[in-house]
Amino acid sequence: MSTVTSAHRPADLPTRIQHFIGGKLVDSVGGETFEVLDPVSNQTYATAAAGQAADIAAAVEAARNAFVDGAWPRMLPRQRSRILHAVADAVEAQESRLAELETFDTGLPITQARGQARRAAENFRFFGDLLVAQSDDTYKVPGQQLNYVNRKPIGVAGLITPWNTPFMLESWKLAPALASGCTVVLKPAEFTPLSASLWAGIFAEAGVPDGVFNLVNGLGEEAGDALVKHPDVPLISFTGETTTGQTIFRNSAAHLKGMSMELGGKSPAIVFADADLEAAIDSTLFGVFSLNGERCTAGSRILVERSIYDEFVEAYAARARAIIVGEPHDPATEVGALVHPEHFAKVMGYVELGKSEGRLVAGGGRPPGLPEGNYVLPTVFADVRPDARIFQEEIFGPVVTITPFDSDAEALRLANAVKYGLAAYVWTTDLNRAHTFSQAIEAGMVWLNSHNVRDLRTPFGGVKSSGLGHEGGYRSIDFYTDQQAVHVTIGDVHTIRFGTAAPADLTS
Ligand code: NAD
Repeated sequence: MSTVTSAHRPADLPTRIQHFIGGKLVDSVGGETFEVLDPVSNQTYATAAAGQAADIAAAVEAARNAFVDGAWPRMLPRQRSRILHAVADAVEAQESRLAELETFDTGLPITQARGQARRAAENFRFFGDLLVAQSDDTYKVPGQQLNYVNRKPIGVAGLITPWNTPFMLESWKLAPALASGCTVVLKPAEFTPLSASLWAGIFAEAGVPDGVFNLVNGLGEEAGDALVKHPDVPLISFTGETTTGQTIFRNSAAHLKGMSMELGGKSPAIVFADADLEAAIDSTLFGVFSLNGERCTAGSRILVERSIYDEFVEAYAARARAIIVGEPHDPATEVGALVHPEHFAKVMGYVELGKSEGRLVAGGGRPPGLPEGNYVLPTVFADVRPDARIFQEEIFGPVVTITPFDSDAEALRLANAVKYGLAAYVWTTDLNRAHTFSQAIEAGMVWLNSHNVRDLRTPFGGVKSSGLGHEGGYRSIDFYTDQQAVHVTIGDVHTIRFGTAAPADLTS
């Protein structure tokens, strides 16, 4: 294990983070604030406005006015598309600054934060293109009827996002919501409000009208809760923990809101003996240790066929021990600092628990030479049984379990033996097994002999406790729009005529 220790502080770091409502940067109506820490020093570097019900009400009112009276939902698709491409240009132009701020706020390694910034721009380009290519169904009943779909934006969308890749995940919701013609209120995660504060300038520069994009910072139980319960917000798109999703689901019931939920995961990576072992090791290492392991689709349970198990564990652990943990801004860093001391304590709790639930073969605590900050060594537990808590529960840090299996049937049982069903990774060169096994896994997304790369047109989402609904490509547009069916008679109207019978007919 190597470490990099020099600390980096971005120039012109804001010390005050505000809401953005109706085109203006504002504090909370009641002046409430919360403190924001950086994960390397765990010192407060900024004070952010803590939104309350009154701030959410103001943001929803601005968004509602922009939806009811404004130009945004009524623009020609090409006009809106041009603006979305201008947003993508602006994001690309600030890629370095964005990545620098994101890394400072989240502790993600800088090289990986750059990738997230590029992906955020790509989300806007993709939905800008999809918007002009959008076609809707029309059905003709010859000589009788024409039926067509009148697609309409639903209204004000409430977007609630987590801290793990904040800017990219915000773009993942903002781009399709805005492409659809909705107006939005974004409530970013309270651990990481820094990069979200760039959106206001980006949207204004690109020509998004005031009131279309609104941002309210704050705690989930305050700002988030008020957004979920607001009667003028018919849609909630949420990414976060499964238990938070359940709370939001309950709180949305009174208004029967449209819900899209991307929740937690504990995804299996299954390595068969016939796999390309080197590729499988590269991928399963990257799959759980990239983004500091704070990745919803992390392959955090590796299942390995018994005949290659010892060889795999030894080679995997050796590589895990060689991962460079260090200051997130150093380009050599592969694993940075976890987002917040609370999350660090949670992950460290699982590391300690793992020592009694499995055989520790790499990591197991804080890296030597990094006494401050939320650093955790890449940690590998072998021989983990399926009833262990470290096998069942989402840790959301650089911690992985390895478990042997003897047959395809056992591998499938183990893969499906948790409440989650977000992603799965399968490594085999047997074509038949590859497809039958992948199709039988209870997961929304399967990567076969591949690490986590995704074409933006494909569905994204989990099954079981990992989510509700699928976004991705046109499915995201479907979420943010209503498809009104319009039925038109062509030719003569043939209606059975009530009230035309003679009185004699009625009595006979
Ligand atoms: P979290 O559930 O704690 O918070 C997510 C967001 O919800 C935050 O903005 C928070 O303020 C808000 N929130 C909290 N309580 C709320 C309430 N009662 N009402 C309304 N809003 C509320 O999640 P987190 O710790 O920020 O993120 C980590 C989790 O996100 C992990 O479980 C991870 O798997 C999941 N995640 C899933 C995906 C996916 O696509 N499936 C992607 C990234 C992260």
